[in-house]
Amino acid sequence: MLVVMERTALPEQVQHVCDIITKLGLTPHPLPGAQRTAIGITGNKDQIDAEQLGNLPGVRDVIHVTQPFKLVSREFHPEDSRVEIGDGISVGGGDNPITVMAGPCSIESRDQAFRVAEAVAAQGTRIYRGGAYKPRTSPYTFQGLGREGLDILAEVREQFGLKIITEAIDTDTLDLVASYTDIVQIGARNMQNFSLLKKVGRLDKPVLLKRGIAATLQELLMSAEYILAEGNRRVILCERGVRTFADHTRNTLDLSAVPYVKRLSHLPIITDPSHGTGRRNKVTPLSRASIAVGADGIIVEVHNQPELALSDGVQALTLDDYETLIADVQKVGSVLGRNLQ
Ligand code: PEP
Ligand code: MN
Repeated sequence: MLVVMERTALPEQVQHVCDIITKLGLTPHPLPGAQRTAIGITGNKDQIDAEQLGNLPGVRDVIHVTQPFKLVSREFHPEDSRVEIGDGISVGGGDNPITVMAGPCSIESRDQAFRVAEAVAAQGTRIYRGGAYKPRTSPYTFQGLGREGLDILAEVREQFGLKIITEAIDTDTLDLVASYTDIVQIGARNMQNFSLLKKVGRLDKPVLLKRGIAATLQELLMSAEYILAEGNRRVILCERGVRTFADHTRNTLDLSAVPYVKRLSHLPIITDPSHGTGRRNKVTPLSRASIAVGADGIIVEVHNQPELALSDGVQALTLDDYETLIADVQKVGSVLGRNLQ
C-alpha cells in the first residue's frame, strides 16, 4: 500500500498519516519526491482499509501495490534513484550517467593493486574494485588477503583518490569490511543470505547486490527489498550472468534483465561483463552492449599480468584492453547522450 500526499500537504499532515499507520501496527516509509511525498506501508498481512487512510487531511490517493516487493518498486518511487557514493560520484539517476568500476578480481599484493589502480585512474575511472575476502568454489584456491587486502585498498584510496568497492562474504567480517570500503559488494553466492542482507540493510553505506547464479529477477528484487526494509536505500543492482547450458562462456550475461528491472524498480542496475562471460575477448563487446541496453554502468576486472592472476585471470582485461573499453563505452554513451562519470 502506498499513500500519496497532495503536492501542498504540510509536513505535519505527513507526520499525522505516519502516526496513524504506526498505531495500526504497521511500518510507514516516507518517500519524499520531487513533486510530492508518498508514504509506503509495509508489515500488513491482510489488505489495509484504503478509505480509512484516504480521508486523512493532505492525502490525495491510496494505491495498492501489486508487486510483492514494495520499497524497491517503481510504484513506490516513480523516479530513478541515484545512489550517492560521495565526492560527486554516484550511480544512476535522471541524467543517465555511466559509472564504471574497475580493478582486479583479488587484491594480491600492494604492487599489483597499485599498478592496476594507476592504470584505471589514468582512464578517468573513479571507483576501484578488488576482493580481499574471496568466495571461491574450491577451498584449495586463493581465498584473498583478508585484512591485509583491506589495508592495501585503503592505501589505494589515499594514493589515487579512488572510491573503493569490495565484497563482504559473511556477517562476521561485514563490519570490518564496511569500515574500510565506500561500497559493500554482496556477491552472487550470497544474494539470498538473508541474515547478511539484513545486517547490510542496517549500514549507512551503498551496497552493490549481485544477482545469484540461478536467481530470477523477482528473487533479486526481493533480496534488495530485505536491504531497503532495514532502512538502507542506497542499493545498486548488478546483472553478473546466470548459469545456462551454454559452454562458450562461463555464465550467460542476461542483458534483458536491465530493461526488465528498470520497468519494475527505481534502483540503478549495472552489469558485470567479466563474470557474465568469463572470457577476456567478450568483456568489451558486452560492455558496449550493456550501455546500449540502458545499464547505469559496468563493473569489470582488470589485471596488470592476467596470466599470473591468483583468481579469474582468464576474464581479466589487460591494461591496454581497458583503455579500449573506456573509449568504446564513451562512444556508445555519446550516441545516447550519456556521459561517462
Ligand atoms: C567478484 O566480483 O569477484 C565475484 C566473486 O563476483 P560474483 O559474486 O558475481 O561471482
Ligand atoms: Mn572475480
